[in-house]
Amino acid sequence: SNEMPHWLTKRAFLTPDREAVSDGRRSWSFWELKERARDVARRLARLGVGRGDRVAVLMDNHLDYAAWIHAISFLGAVAVPLNTRLAPAEWGWQVADAEAKVWVFDESLEERVCEADEAGWEAVRISRQEIASTSPAEVELVERICLTDPATMMYTSGTTGRPKGVILTYGNHWWNAMGSVLNLGLQEDKWLACVPLFHMSGLSILMRGVIYGMAVEIQAGFDPAEANRSIHERGVTIVSVVSNMAARMLDDLGEQTYPLSFRCLLLGGGPAPRPLLERCRDKGVPVFQTYGMTETASQAATLSPEGSLARLGSAGKPLFPGELTIRKGDQTLPPGEEGEIAVRAPYVTPGYWKRPDATREAIRDGWLYTGDIGYVDEQGFLYVLDRRSDLILSGGENVYPAEVEAVLLSHPAVAEAGVVGKTDARWGEVPVAFVVLRSEGGVDEQVLIRHCRERLARYKVPVQIIWTDALPRNASNKVLRRKLKAKLEQRMN
Ligand code: AMP
Ligand code: MG
Ligand code: MG
Repeated sequence: SNEMPHWLTKRAFLTPDREAVSDGRRSWSFWELKERARDVARRLARLGVGRGDRVAVLMDNHLDYAAWIHAISFLGAVAVPLNTRLAPAEWGWQVADAEAKVWVFDESLEERVCEADEAGWEAVRISRQEIASTSPAEVELVERICLTDPATMMYTSGTTGRPKGVILTYGNHWWNAMGSVLNLGLQEDKWLACVPLFHMSGLSILMRGVIYGMAVEIQAGFDPAEANRSIHERGVTIVSVVSNMAARMLDDLGEQTYPLSFRCLLLGGGPAPRPLLERCRDKGVPVFQTYGMTETASQAATLSPEGSLARLGSAGKPLFPGELTIRKGDQTLPPGEEGEIAVRAPYVTPGYWKRPDATREAIRDGWLYTGDIGYVDEQGFLYVLDRRSDLILSGGENVYPAEVEAVLLSHPAVAEAGVVGKTDARWGEVPVAFVVLRSEGGVDEQVLIRHCRERLARYKVPVQIIWTDALPRNASNKVLRRKLKAKLEQRMN
């Protein structure tokens, strides 16, 4: 059957005393985590949350995050993690789109939550701290989960329009955790979560922790020295990072080396720069490039321990039992030829929330068309090439030009807008906007930037506005961002 005992109940039964989560100072055993999660669930039930309801979670990285994710599943509800870096208007939009029954947040974020409007929808807004002071309800908590039931929903932006809610079932999380462990193996591991828990890379660590019975250290933010300390002093064996985090950890490490117990620096979220990989190799840092996305519940392909040095630059093979092919339209391309990466696996999302069209477009014949470009070699190792030419990767965050352009265009003085990425030493890329003004009125760069700040997360706000007379367009009138990018590079030289 598709059912199994609730993961945390089962885990707390098997290994009650083992460390589940810690933050470098406090730690909870699996028994404690289960008790706390069940307690939160009973308080949350007072707000009327039941099976299938969405609960939006806006929290920083801390131990309670883990309790909350499991608490929501003890009610059979669906957790909708919100990105703390977004603008309040973006949160409000996602909460309304998700039709969340409750929106729970850290007290420290309350002021910003108050700035959000939920268009056409009211969720109960309540802080985690306030819920902790309510009294628990007498409710029956979920004993068994069903692998086909939705567990989480995370918003991801796309090449057009508004972000989409990616539904992930228990089965998706389960199979991804299985795929990861069948590749990396399981030892006396402790996995460091210094990436946001509201992203797939962070959330998937919590899932693995409870399924494997593995300790997870949660850090509030990323600090390279603190990440290194957790490896040197607190037994962390695996760390998930994006490339700028890895580079900063190596800078901090200096002439030192890592202990042998540190066995995996899992590097994903964007392209892995060759010099960084070489630096890791030369220092004996066990780096594994991975390729994945929200829609694949985290890693879709990862380099294996035996392949890691010989295949520098590859993102490995699809995790067991997933499949990966390179497509041009519906046609599969032979090794060496570049095309769109397609993935078929039990860890692929069943689809986007309330977006049947987008789902049909992305998932065809059981294959997820990722929109990313790459090729596989003769042995089936994946090389991810330039992703969709327009996606800007800034730190660990994705910036979709269409989203920023839509906000620029909503300003009355703006006639046309085109957004591209500019190379940045720290973040990899940062957004820059080309703007054509309407003839009637001018507008100050600062005014336009403020307009964006009110509506967009900081990392999406253009760092610079370049005024121009016209945007390069193709025959069907689409902005040619490639040309804008070339123009930008010319300006910088
Ligand atoms: P997200 O949905 O936020 O997890 O972003 C997923 C996207 O990040 C993918 O569709 C890729 O465009 C990009 N990405 C992830 N891993 C890699 C990688 N190893 N190399 C290049 N791009 C990557
Ligand atoms: Mg995506
Ligand atoms: Mg990402």
